Amino acid sequence: MADIEKADNKTYAEFKRLERENQILIQQVYRATSEKKYYENELRRYQNEIRLLKKRISELRSPPLLISIVEERPAKDKLIVKHPGGPQFMVKVPEEFHNTRIPIGTRVALNKDSLALVSILSYPKSSSVMGAEVIERPDVTFNDIGGLVEEKRLIREAVELPLKKPHLFERIGIEPPNGILLIGKPGTGKTLLAKAVANSTKATFLHMVASELVQKFIGEGARLVRELFALARDKEPSIIFIDELDAIGARRLDIGTTGDREVQRTLMQFLAEMDGFTPRGKVKVIAATNRADILDEALLRPGRFDRIIEINPPSKEDMVEIYQIHTRKMPLAKDVNLENLAEHSQGFNGADIKNVCVEAGMNAIRKERKVVTREDFELALSKVRKEQETENPVMYW
Ligand code: ATP
Repeated sequence: MADIEKADNKTYAEFKRLERENQILIQQVYRATSEKKYYENELRRYQNEIRLLKKRISELRSPPLLISIVEERPAKDKLIVKHPGGPQFMVKVPEEFHNTRIPIGTRVALNKDSLALVSILSYPKSSSVMGAEVIERPDVTFNDIGGLVEEKRLIREAVELPLKKPHLFERIGIEPPNGILLIGKPGTGKTLLAKAVANSTKATFLHMVASELVQKFIGEGARLVRELFALARDKEPSIIFIDELDAIGARRLDIGTTGDREVQRTLMQFLAEMDGFTPRGKVKVIAATNRADILDEALLRPGRFDRIIEINPPSKEDMVEIYQIHTRKMPLAKDVNLENLAEHSQGFNGADIKNVCVEAGMNAIRKERKVVTREDFELALSKVRKEQETENPVMYW
C-alpha cells in the first residue's frame, strides 16, 4: 500500500514538472512568434530602404532632365513642347501619363536623351490665373470718367472708404459691403469705374471675364476661382473685377447637362470664396453685368453682392464731359463744338463717344491734317451711328 502511494506521488510530481515545462515552452513559442514578426517587419523596412537607396543611386547616375513647357497635345501619347528660349520638340508620353490631363503651359521634365516625359512639374497657374488680366495699379483715374457723378460717389463709398479709413466703420460698428455689383449696359464705363477705384486705393486690379471661368474640364472653373482669390489675397490690397457675372451667376431652372452642373460648381466655389473673407479685409470684389434680372438670388444675399450700383446712360452734360476727356490730347479746329456734338450723340454710350473721337482723329490722319475738324467729327458720328444701328436696329433720333 505504501508502495502504491509512493508511486502515485512520484507520478504526480512528474506530471507537475511536465506541466511547468509545457508552460515554459508555450511562453517560448509566444516569444519566438513575436520575435519572428519583429524580424519580418525589420526585413520589410530594410527592403524598402534598399529600394529607396537604389532609386536614389539611379537618380544620381541618370542624366539631368530637361524642363520644357507644353505647347500642344496632338495625341494622348504625344506632346509638343518648347524648351524655354530653345526649339520645339514632339515628345513621347509614356503610357502611365496617357490618361493624365496635361494642359498647355504645364511645365514638364523630359529625359535628356530620349526626350520622353518623366514627370509633370507644375500646372499653369502663374500670376495670370489663365484668362485673368492683372494690373498692379491701373492708370485710370476718376478724372478720366465723364459723368457718372453719383456712381463714382457710391463706388468710392463702398470700396475706397473701407480700404482707406476702416476705423470709421469700426467706430460706428457697421460692416462695409463685401461685394459691389455694377449693373449697366455695355460700354457705359463699368470697367473704368472699377479700375479708377483700384487706382485711388493703390490696389492690384484682377480682371476676369466670367465666361473664362466656364471651362471644358470638370472642376477647372472652380480651380480657377480658387486661384483667382488666392492671387488676390497674395496681392492685397486688391480688387477682383468679374465682368459678365451672368455667365456663371445666371439662375438655373433645372440642372440638366454636365455643362450646367460644371457652371453651378464654379458658382458655388465663387460663393464659398466670397463667404470666406471679411468685409474689413483688403480684398474687394466688384462684378458687372447687364443682365441683373437673370442673376441667381444666392449672389445677392447679405455678405455677397450687398451693394448694387446702377450705371446710367450718359446725359447730354455727361456726354460733353466724355467728349472733353477723349479729345484732351487732340488738336481741335476752332469749328469743333463739343456741346453740339453731344446733342447729335443721342443714345450713345461712353464707348460710342470714344469711337467717334478715334474715328474723327483717323479722318484727320488720312487727310494728313494737323487738326481735327468739325467735318471729321460729323463723318465719324454718322459712321458710328450706322455701326450702332446695324448692331442694334433701334432709331434714336
Ligand atoms: P462692358 O460691359 O462691355 O465691359 P463697360 O461698361 O465695362 O462695358 P468700359 O469698358 O468701362 O465699359 O468702357 C469702354 C470704353 O468706353 C472705355 O475704355 C472708355 O474709353 C469709354 N467710356 C465708357 N464710359 C465712359 C465714361 N463715362 N467716360 C469716359 N470714357 C468712357
